[in-house]
Amino acid sequence: MPLNENLLDAARLGRGSPAISEVARAEGLRPAFLQKQVALGRAVIMQRDGQAPLGIGEGLTTKINANIGTSTEVCDISEEVEKARVAERYGADTITDLSMGGPIGEIRRRILEATCAPLTTVPIYQAVVEAGSIKAITEADLLRMIKRHVDEGISSIVVHAGFTTDMLEELRGKKRIMGIVSKGGSFTSAWMLQNNKENPYISHFDDICGILAERDVVLSLGNTMRSGCIHDAMDEPQDLEIRMNAGLAKRANELGVQVIIEGMGGHVSPNLIPDLVAHYKRITDNRPLFSAGPLPIDIGVGYDHIAGCVGGSLAAGAGADYLCYITPSEHLALPTASQVREGVVAFRIAAHIGDTMKYGPRPEDRKLAECRRARDWESQFRLAIDGDRAREIHLPNQTKTCSMCGRYCAIAIMEEFLR
Ligand code: SF4
Repeated sequence: MPLNENLLDAARLGRGSPAISEVARAEGLRPAFLQKQVALGRAVIMQRDGQAPLGIGEGLTTKINANIGTSTEVCDISEEVEKARVAERYGADTITDLSMGGPIGEIRRRILEATCAPLTTVPIYQAVVEAGSIKAITEADLLRMIKRHVDEGISSIVVHAGFTTDMLEELRGKKRIMGIVSKGGSFTSAWMLQNNKENPYISHFDDICGILAERDVVLSLGNTMRSGCIHDAMDEPQDLEIRMNAGLAKRANELGVQVIIEGMGGHVSPNLIPDLVAHYKRITDNRPLFSAGPLPIDIGVGYDHIAGCVGGSLAAGAGADYLCYITPSEHLALPTASQVREGVVAFRIAAHIGDTMKYGPRPEDRKLAECRRARDWESQFRLAIDGDRAREIHLPNQTKTCSMCGRYCAIAIMEEFLR
């Protein structure tokens, strides 16, 4: 579908579209089912000019996102482009550029050139850098920045619209350990408090939707109030934010804009994850739910990709549709390219576990088991989530077994015995 046609309106009118047909084919779904899901706001299609569209939502496989981008401390454009390539190579479905250091527009352009996956941005990041301070940004600056990103061909933007100044005041009285940990949310909050104004995304919501609808860019409603540690449990501001985001999503859909709800991010005790996912899904009429992690413990520092894989698996299994990866460098540093790979693989595993919980055992696992029985190593590497790693570790021998048991290979012995 050309980018100036509105996919959501077409789906509502019962019209098919090439993007919906292509995603339905990739997902093994009936186009009519996917069209209905899109029309109901339960699935979104991310598009990028000249690239394959991507579906996210209820009834589709769980997708994963990789965050990359420079910071004020580390800014090597080639390295960020390499991270984007690595993320895509190891299976990230989408990439988010969070650059705040160096020539941000050029970095975005180079990432777009180097990748095929849908690209998401958080326009306030660049607005802060260009204005020189959070307070100095004007509402017109924000709208201009959103339009600029949209015109450059990104597929989705994040705005932190789901809270008011009253909710920030409410937060002051709360006994949270970590306060607000969302970067975009903290920028927006600081802007509101410093300028004594309401949330600019609420004030200009329809204008923003108008910009996005023009090029079918997906709106991701950010999660400012998420908990930053597992002892900051669900509180009133979090619940109010998800309810506000649900209302805004409805309005955006009416204006022809597809919406993803960010609602399960941060740090959530593992016993609460399934119930919270169900709660968010219920409040948002089953709109696509994005979960950053979540981290189910706080002490996995250095291995947060593993902790996040467990939290992400639980969230996806309970119904989250889209996971944001976490790398081993979470809370410690900007990730390297190899840490991006580790994060992507950990979350591909989480998404696959989630899909197995949602839809039952997946055919890929069966195929791999058959290849394992046949000691067909090359096919196993091809089917594995990270076949490169499997190939590096494997120690071949002449009997086609591996060095774990050598000639006492249980599979080979039983094959001989049962023949
Ligand atoms: S040698 Fe042991 S670990 Fe390796 S394939 Fe055979 S049974 Fe499996």
